Amino acid sequence: FQVCMAPVAEKKGKIISLVLTFTDITKTRRLELVRKDFVANVSHELKTPLTSIGGFAEILVNKQAEGKQAQQFLEIIFDNVKQMQLIVEDLLLLASLENDEKQITMQSCSVEHIIEESLRRCTYKASMKKMVIESKVQRKLYCMGNEGLLIQAMVNLILNAILYSEEGKTISIVVEEVENQILFKVQDQGCGIAEENLERIFERFYRVDKARSRKEGGTGLGLSIVKHIANIHNGNISVESHIGEGSTFTLSIPQ
Ligand code: ADP
Repeated sequence: FQVCMAPVAEKKGKIISLVLTFTDITKTRRLELVRKDFVANVSHELKTPLTSIGGFAEILVNKQAEGKQAQQFLEIIFDNVKQMQLIVEDLLLLASLENDEKQITMQSCSVEHIIEESLRRCTYKASMKKMVIESKVQRKLYCMGNEGLLIQAMVNLILNAILYSEEGKTISIVVEEVENQILFKVQDQGCGIAEENLERIFERFYRVDKARSRKEGGTGLGLSIVKHIANIHNGNISVESHIGEGSTFTLSIPQ
C-alpha cells in the first residue's frame, strides 16, 4: 500500500484532523516487476547469440581461422543471426498485438481455410522429420476472428508439436464445435510436459528444456503469442499433457 497523509486545518490554521489515503499499488508494482523481468529476459535472449557472433567474427577478422574451420564459424554466425531475427520478429508481433489491439479487424473466417493454410506453412518442417499431420474438419464451420492471427496461432502450435516430437510420429488436428465455440485441437505424440510446468509454458521466454528449444530455433515466445491471440478473440488456450505420451493444445474461439 502507498500511504498519503494530508492535514485538514481550520481558518486560523490550526490542524483539526488528518486525512490518510491508502492506495493499493500491488497491480502497478506487479506490472513494473513484469516489465523489468521482460527487459532483462529480452536482453539475455539477444545477448547469447550476439556473444557468439562477436566471438567468431573476431576470430575471422583476425584471420585466426581459415578453410573448413572458417566456413564452420561463418555457419555458426549465420545460425545465430537467424535466431536473433526470429526473436525480434516474435517481439515485434507481440508488441503489435498489444498496441494495435483495437485496429485488428474481425470477420467470419472459414475454419477449413485456416487449417489448410496453417498446414501448408508447416508441411516442410513436418516432412523434414518424416511426420504425418492428419486433419479432420467435419463440415463447413466458421468462427469470428482475424484470419491471419488465427493461422499464426495454429502454425505456432503445429510447429511446437513437430519440434517436441520424435521423427516419424503423427500429429492430429481436430476441430470441434462446442457451445458456440470452435475448438482447434493440436495433438502430438511427443515428449509431453510435466504437470508443474503446464501453467508456466504460456509465459514469455519460459521453456521446459532451454537447450532443446534454442537448438531447434525456438524463441520461447510462441505460446505467449498464441495466448495473446486467444485473448484478443475472447477465446482461450489450454493444454493437457502427460510426460512421454504427448500433448493436446486446444484453442477455443467464439463463433
Ligand atoms: P519455444 O520457442 O521454446 O518452443 P513456446 O512458447 O512455443 O517456446 O513454448 C514454451 C515451452 O513449452 C517450450 O520451450 C517447451 O518446453 C514447451 N512446449 C510447447 N509446446 C510443446 C509440445 N507440443 N510438447 C512438449 N512441450 C512443449
